[in-house]
Amino acid sequence: MSEQANPFESLQEQIDDAAEYMNVGDDVLNRLKHPERVLETNLSVETDDGDVEVFKAFRSEFNGDRGPYKGGIRYHPNVSRDEVKALSGWMVYKCAIVDIPYGGGKGGIIIDPDDYSEDELERITRSFAKELRPFIGVDKDIPAPDVNTGQREMNWIKDTYETLENTTEPGVITGKSPDSGGSAGRVEATGRSTMLTAREAFDYLDRDIEGASVAVQGYGNAGWIAAKLIDELGANVVAVSDSSGAVYKEGGFDPVDVKHHKKETGSVAGYPGADDEFSNEDLLTLDVDLLVPAALENAIDGDLARDVQADVVVEAANGPLTPEADDVLSEADTYVFPDILANAGGVTVSYFEWVQNRQRFHWTEERVNEELERIITDAFDNLVETYEETGAPNMRTAAYVVAIQRVVDAYEESGNWP
Ligand code: GLU
Repeated sequence: MSEQANPFESLQEQIDDAAEYMNVGDDVLNRLKHPERVLETNLSVETDDGDVEVFKAFRSEFNGDRGPYKGGIRYHPNVSRDEVKALSGWMVYKCAIVDIPYGGGKGGIIIDPDDYSEDELERITRSFAKELRPFIGVDKDIPAPDVNTGQREMNWIKDTYETLENTTEPGVITGKSPDSGGSAGRVEATGRSTMLTAREAFDYLDRDIEGASVAVQGYGNAGWIAAKLIDELGANVVAVSDSSGAVYKEGGFDPVDVKHHKKETGSVAGYPGADDEFSNEDLLTLDVDLLVPAALENAIDGDLARDVQADVVVEAANGPLTPEADDVLSEADTYVFPDILANAGGVTVSYFEWVQNRQRFHWTEERVNEELERIITDAFDNLVETYEETGAPNMRTAAYVVAIQRVVDAYEESGNWP
């Protein structure tokens, strides 16, 4: 597995690839390859035993041409400045391809949250929120959950911000719990857009999703919901994994039952109904109809891509394929439906949450899911149209053509402020 691919360089390469199919000047393009600003801060927080520990944290605001910066905050030991920059750039193009009025941002703390108590995590989160306070705001920069963060952390950040600002402004952050201003359907939204993309992809490719074999790498919020919803379409989820390894069942798993097992034991490994257990790498190279990488960046590099046997890949994670893997899979005629569309459900329902917060009005889950389906299927149609019209080598490049053009249009229409 590639340790070497730098996600920020991958992002820049993806933009360059798309530029070949567009009429956009190098000066404008260069702007789109670098963040506008990056906050780097060191959080000094008291641990439960009374020591003070320092945690490095970042927030990258990549581009605000289409609206306030938007994107999650992750807690992970591998968080780095370049990773956060890349993830914030991917948010710009993600928001653009689904045409919601946001730019892109992303934040992270270098931490393994499993090593800390809930009280410690609360102090760390509130400390980060205090540092973020001058940058975030309902019309400025709106954080959300990402890897290892969820409703609990979002509620803390909202409360810290509102307390310091002496106001009530739930739209300063999305992904909150329902009683703190969260939206129905937000938790499921990322996996739902993955399912919708897979459904549309199989339809476009004239293949039957019913009965299709599926492997899902990663069983966190995105992966497990995608597995559940794809299973509900009649597909057969034959393999799933998490950081502890992969499990395989020829006849297909009941994703909900696997989730219960993970909740009880901490991992999918040892699931009693499995026929076999193997490594994540083996899962990624299984001969299945559909592969869903739903873990972290760089899961599939060029070398591993040569062994990928799936016919269709739908990316639930951000950046799971390196640019070299993209080239290998394009040449092998494997269709890859990119992250910026397939996991855009999360930020799309974040947008609905923000709209509801601003209107102080609550939508039903049915309405949320209907609007999400419309947005994802429209974006999908637009993507395949652009793929066919431009002759782009793969769906990712076509997706960037659509997204970059929208950002460039917003920039050029509003002119440049020196
Ligand atoms: N972290 C999610 C993503 O990568 C959601 C971002 C958001 O809701 O703002 O798309």
